[in-house]
Amino acid sequence: MLMSELNTEKQTKLIDPFGRTVDYLRVSVTDRCDFRCVYCMAEEMTFLPKADLLTLEELDVLCRRFMAAGVRKIRLTGGEPLVRRNIIQLIESLGSEVKAGNLDELTITSNGSQLSKMAGDLVAAGVRRINVSMDTLDREKFRRVTRWGDLDKVLSGLDAATDAGLDVKINAVALRGENDEELGDMLAWCGERGFDMTIIEVMPMGDIGTENRLDQYLPLSRVRANLAQRFTLTDIPFRTGGPARYVKVEETGQKLGFITPLTHNFCESCNRVRVTCTGQLYMCLGQDDNADLRAALREGGPDALDASIYEAIGRKPKGHDFIIDRRQSGPAVGRHMSVTGG
Ligand code: SAM
Ligand code: SF4
Repeated sequence: MLMSELNTEKQTKLIDPFGRTVDYLRVSVTDRCDFRCVYCMAEEMTFLPKADLLTLEELDVLCRRFMAAGVRKIRLTGGEPLVRRNIIQLIESLGSEVKAGNLDELTITSNGSQLSKMAGDLVAAGVRRINVSMDTLDREKFRRVTRWGDLDKVLSGLDAATDAGLDVKINAVALRGENDEELGDMLAWCGERGFDMTIIEVMPMGDIGTENRLDQYLPLSRVRANLAQRFTLTDIPFRTGGPARYVKVEETGQKLGFITPLTHNFCESCNRVRVTCTGQLYMCLGQDDNADLRAALREGGPDALDASIYEAIGRKPKGHDFIIDRRQSGPAVGRHMSVTGG
């Protein structure tokens, strides 16, 4: 479809039944990844057939329909978004809307493996900030947690990102017995580099093979208490509309976020929805209800896509009900985070 065929006229905003305005879209551009993090994927993953994936053009149309409906911020995620072939084309297209003032921000969540080669192109395309997931600074642990990842490659990627002028935030999943002792050192390391950091609780999403989530789960209340012995953490009102609560680390001046979907409810301020790489729109990360935007777009075109988006926002649920406990150690939500996007 040609871009000129698209109706770019502004539509009414996306407001859900609870009065929340949806202005933030997270898009998973691929379910594939060059890592196999133990909490995210099984080592032997079956990925979706390529024909099921939205093409880059379809992803572009979809993002633009959301923008016409008031979305101001888009995050590309995955799987590993930067391993999708020619992804820079989509980034350049959406980045041009940032430059034109039609989008406040285009951000990416990445494992950092491709940053050495891509950081400069991302900045040129209009990306200003990037979240890089890194759970440890120890080479062996990094290999154990990611199974296939190479810490040195990610570290040089971070150098390239800094050199290119990207604002970096480090995402670390708190893993019991793996990085609990190390998070303080990571926070100090982030401080030295001027990186903000967010620590994430393990979420029960997708079958991860032989790993057991009960073994991985580490409540962030404990993490915070440990960090508070070494750092002065001051609560700050900074909010992104998402599940993170932030503190300022007085010793470094950087922000530290805690994402605690299991111990806290963050739903009342939720401003976001997620689209999978196959075009399923999930109105809530923790619920299964979804809308098939790919079918709407392929069968009915952009107008049908619009109708499907508005109809789906009309049933955005009030909140999620994640739970990890002894009776239910399987996934509360069957799909993997790499499908919905983190
Ligand atoms: N591959 C990219 C990356 O790792 O940043 C983007 C996709 S990844 C699914 C997005 C985020 O979700 C990462 O920060 C990752 O650590 C987190 N994540 C994946 N599975 C998770 C789980 N079960 N619980 C909590 N966080 C998870
Ligand atoms: Fe890949 Fe990110 Fe999942 Fe790790 S967390 S396996 S890097 S998608």
